[in-house]
Amino acid sequence: MTKASVSSGQPAGGGSGRLVLVLNSGSSSVKFALLAPGSGERLMAGIGERLGTPEAALRVQQFPAAAVEERLHGGSHRDVVARVLELLAAGHPGVHLLGAGHRVVHGGERFTFSVRVDNSVIVALRASSHLAPLHNPANIAGIEAVRSVLPDLPQVAVFDTAFHQTMPPHAFRYAVPEKWYTDHGVRRYGFHGISHRFVSEQAAAMLGRSPRELRLVTAHLGNGCSATAVRDGVSVDTTMGLTPLEGLVMGTRSGDVDPGMLDYLAGRTGMDVGQLIRALNVDSGLQGLSGVGNDMRAIEAAAAAGNERAQLALAVFVHRLCKAIAGLVVELERLDALVFTGGIGENSAVIRSLVLSRLAFLGLAEDTRANADHGRHTAGRVSLAGPVLALVVPTDEELLIARDTAHVITGG
Ligand code: ADP
Repeated sequence: MTKASVSSGQPAGGGSGRLVLVLNSGSSSVKFALLAPGSGERLMAGIGERLGTPEAALRVQQFPAAAVEERLHGGSHRDVVARVLELLAAGHPGVHLLGAGHRVVHGGERFTFSVRVDNSVIVALRASSHLAPLHNPANIAGIEAVRSVLPDLPQVAVFDTAFHQTMPPHAFRYAVPEKWYTDHGVRRYGFHGISHRFVSEQAAAMLGRSPRELRLVTAHLGNGCSATAVRDGVSVDTTMGLTPLEGLVMGTRSGDVDPGMLDYLAGRTGMDVGQLIRALNVDSGLQGLSGVGNDMRAIEAAAAAGNERAQLALAVFVHRLCKAIAGLVVELERLDALVFTGGIGENSAVIRSLVLSRLAFLGLAEDTRANADHGRHTAGRVSLAGPVLALVVPTDEELLIARDTAHVITGG
């Protein structure tokens, strides 16, 4: 693989200057986007998949062309980065990269904001890998891949947990033995922080208000689901905990369950804790309840056709979501707006309608026309005008990572 002839460090002139490479690295996949942090304009995006196997492939979209897939020789994280930069150099000669921004799942208690990556940050990420054993090592692999291709390119880590580090102790502590917290870091961290922060800032901009004067609940409803109380621009409570398993019902995750269930089921089934937790992560949630799968569109269609399990899945999903939203208002002491985002929040008029009607007691009133007509990928209000609003705000985690990366690197 040739070394990409993309230079680093200096902003390029023209509309495509100051490009940021955003990476979301998993153990066998890397999602990437090349975008301008100011305008959000994307030059390229795609995913390297099945990494580490002979079937490794790279799917790339060079906007506005359609996506193409190619075999990825070598099949490592580094090969993804090298090939993306090669394509960038070929398609956009003269473009300069400002830096690379990485989504890092777990920053523990140390990282409260995005940071420039240096050796000490990598050591700290390794040290907190026990908190996210599936994710952090993959995120580090992404950072090392960029380092090996472009050693001088500034890199920034943007954490999924950082936004929630403002939660007060009464929101982040579990009522468990003190030593579990002091010796093992057992506390609520929360996740989806990049999305909650992005949509809360967007919502404030939409309302023409400063985030500092708003009290919001942001509901990120995708395959993973979480809701956050955002008061004066910072997270004060959220539904996910030590791991993303806590909280709302999700596509395949159970959300909150009675932990006594583990011992009970271990005794009855012979499954060990690892197997039971895996079942709570991948066989539960909407999929476990409905039997139709984890895709909300299929569940809505089955429910409308009379499938009782799908109807129950919807009812449980909405009940638990509404209970959580109302619970988050405790820390807010007043609600100004409920913000829907994520694939379900942005696209499902059915779920939004069910939620708004159950939360009417909080002052929310659905604008049935606006909710039903709300278009994909657009922002807008789906409630009637009043003191408590419901908004749909499309999330864009890559854009926030690109912006933070530019901000940390340039100090601007
Ligand atoms: P991820 O969390 O993996 O990023 P998304 O945010 O894309 O996922 O959300 C995926 C979820 O959004 C799926 O449950 C999918 O069924 C749901 N979804 C997407 N479009 C619609 C739609 N038009 N109506 C209802 N649900 C939808």
